[in-house]
Amino acid sequence: MVRFFALLIALMLPCFATAQEKLPYPEHYTVLTNDFAGILSDEAEAQINAVLLTAREERGREMTVVTIRSREDYLPSNDITSFSKDLFNGWGIGNAELNDGILLLVAIEDREIRIALGAGYPARQDGIAARIIQTQILPAFREGRIADGILAGTNASLSRIKHPNDAPTQAATPKASQPQVPQPPQPVVLEQPPEPRPVGIIANILAYISGNPLGAIIVAVLTSLGGFFGFRGVQQYRPRKCPECGTIMLRLGDAQEDQYLDHGQLVEERIKSKNYGVWICPNDEHITVIGYSTLFSKKSACPNCNYHTYETTRFVVTPASTASMGIDQLDHRCHNCDHTASEKVSTPRLPENNSDGGSSSIGSSSSSSFGGGSSSGGGASGSW
Ligand SMILES: [Zn+2]
Ligand SMILES: [Zn+2]
Repeated sequence: MVRFFALLIALMLPCFATAQEKLPYPEHYTVLTNDFAGILSDEAEAQINAVLLTAREERGREMTVVTIRSREDYLPSNDITSFSKDLFNGWGIGNAELNDGILLLVAIEDREIRIALGAGYPARQDGIAARIIQTQILPAFREGRIADGILAGTNASLSRIKHPNDAPTQAATPKASQPQVPQPPQPVVLEQPPEPRPVGIIANILAYISGNPLGAIIVAVLTSLGGFFGFRGVQQYRPRKCPECGTIMLRLGDAQEDQYLDHGQLVEERIKSKNYGVWICPNDEHITVIGYSTLFSKKSACPNCNYHTYETTRFVVTPASTASMGIDQLDHRCHNCDHTASEKVSTPRLPENNSDGGSSSIGSSSSSSFGGGSSSGGGASGSW
């Protein structure tokens, strides 16, 4: 194992030779969901992106979702408030005149969440952000359902956090008989007694190597390996409480867990599209089965049996040219139920190489850059 790590690190070092300097915050690769922590499955990310894109295209509202492993990966920051404000203003989230951007930031291993609001939101929206964190996000996070919490928080933020420029709704004219009681801002949880941190060989290795001079680089390497060594591995072994009686449950080993998995789940494990954890309560033998999507899996959900056992092979029927679209054929086969399907899809015309810089790129500009909005630090935080 040690030799494997040494080899791995030796192989990866050249790639990170220029990455030693920490940055104040990451650079975005999309204006929708930047999952730097690698905790979202492709489906979860697509779901969240669909919500963000609808708000962008239909209402011009720029909201972005960011997950990071830890603030420690970046230049020192006082707290998640200042970190998220720097990131917000560095990226320029939201319209530059309305300052109506929204950032939902999750620092997984710090167990911190923040909804940061653009400078155009009145201060009372901070209380609504705090309420969304308390009621929509933290309950799911405490059960380890990070993607669910992010999706619920994204939906709630877009529907409940109001900018003065938003179209008025009926609720804006309360009846005299029902005076609107101003909601006291929810207490914002800043410090909580730390829950038992996930422990395990990975956490120990991380702690050990952080202490040596190459630590930062090595941590960067390991972090970049995401699902292999990173958070997912730790998270999957996090202690779980029995939903029936609250006793800490035991995770079964691979050999014992198989009897609790059905055929499709066993196939998913065999082809490594999903990894299942089975917990048993020592008190009442309650069983909890949780599936984790694995990174890098190319298998999708089978339309017939729904397991992530659907493999697609793509080949070119007619190549695209600058004059016409191309055609690709997709052959699907399910490893679980043997369902097969074939379809032809068109591929975009190749862009012409104009030398006069007037040609437009393939991506639409509306979803490739932020509007230049800023935040003065409004919003709310929580921890779980
Ligand atoms: Zn129990
Ligand atoms: Zn199937």
